[in-house]
Amino acid sequence: MKKNNANLKPATLCVHAGGYHDAATGAVTTPIFTASSYACPNPSGQNIYQRYSNTPNQRAVAAKLAALEQGGDALVFGSGMAAITTVLFALLEPGDHAVFQEDLYGGTYHFVAAELTQFGVEVSFVKANGDFAAQIRPATKLIFVESPSNPLLRCVDLAAIAALGKARGLLTVIDNTFATPINQNPLATGLDVVIHSATKYLNGHSDLNAGAVIASGEIIARIRPFAVNHGGMLDAHTCYMLERGLKTLALRVERQNENAGKLARWLQKHPAVARVNYPGLPDHPDHAVAARQMRGFGGMLSFELRDAAQAGAALGRFQLATAAVSLGGVETLVTSPAKTSHVKMTAAERAAVGISDALLRVSTGIEDADDLIADFEQTLAAK
Ligand SMILES: *Cc1c(COP(=O)(O)O)cnc(C)c1O
Repeated sequence: MKKNNANLKPATLCVHAGGYHDAATGAVTTPIFTASSYACPNPSGQNIYQRYSNTPNQRAVAAKLAALEQGGDALVFGSGMAAITTVLFALLEPGDHAVFQEDLYGGTYHFVAAELTQFGVEVSFVKANGDFAAQIRPATKLIFVESPSNPLLRCVDLAAIAALGKARGLLTVIDNTFATPINQNPLATGLDVVIHSATKYLNGHSDLNAGAVIASGEIIARIRPFAVNHGGMLDAHTCYMLERGLKTLALRVERQNENAGKLARWLQKHPAVARVNYPGLPDHPDHAVAARQMRGFGGMLSFELRDAAQAGAALGRFQLATAAVSLGGVETLVTSPAKTSHVKMTAAERAAVGISDALLRVSTGIEDADDLIADFEQTLAAK
């Protein structure tokens, strides 16, 4: 980047931070360097190899992410799960204990509960608004949260988690996928590590899988050897795609924040809707926390129909929105958590965590809000 990052706003960083400026041609975008290996020695003084995550395309997109999350350094991965598993293997060892938020992304939950524990790491789970401090033991090394959470958009008090981590000498890690760096910068609040499924908002076009980890240079230096050996790096072509997607992140997220807010307020008044979960609504249980720590309330919301039997049929009636898993793209997607992300739980387990068969989750896209609302109107009106 030509200028110092220090005073630049997120929308400017999306366009100008990171990148690779090709002196030979003056190309205004990063060229795609397809080489897996580079002559040694080369002017960088490094042994450059794609699995080491130090090629020009990997560094270009990592530098943009570090600037956006206000971190010292970043690593990009082939998926969000590659980022999550690599961070946990790097920062925990046998005999350690870690405290996890209970309502995590399903893949993270299953990895932590069924696989991480095979390596001698003990884990405890706490509700989003629960007492994290009460679970800390002498062997505890790390706290892992996800805010807002899926699918009820619960928000964890990040300043409190950061303070707890500092007071007890624990690393604090957050999956910031739902919020994006446009709405929330946990490192600035004092957390140590930010993880993203870049598959979602960061890329924003539902056409690749990627992950990212942003932290201080010191913590990234601890994670890097595990990233190298676990091998889950991101290839040059996908790095280029992700870098291109990130240039419009601020624009997209601002529209998604706006659309989700309008849709949430409209749904709240609809007679077929029993409840709307959106942190931007004053009646959301974590509205005050969200208002304190988020610049925007995000593009994700969920709502419960009065008649659970209508939920499946409603999914089939959308004309603009698509019934599909995943989130964060330019197109609006709707899912039934009970049938997708939480299908492995029993109905009683789902009820205990507040996920009924009548619940639908919406990832709001960048369409015109009136068109979106009209689609929800025809969907909810039909019987
Ligand atoms: C999708 C998702 C992941 C996993 O990311 P992949 O890119 O699919 O591996 C992790 N956390 C959250 C919150 C997600 O939404």
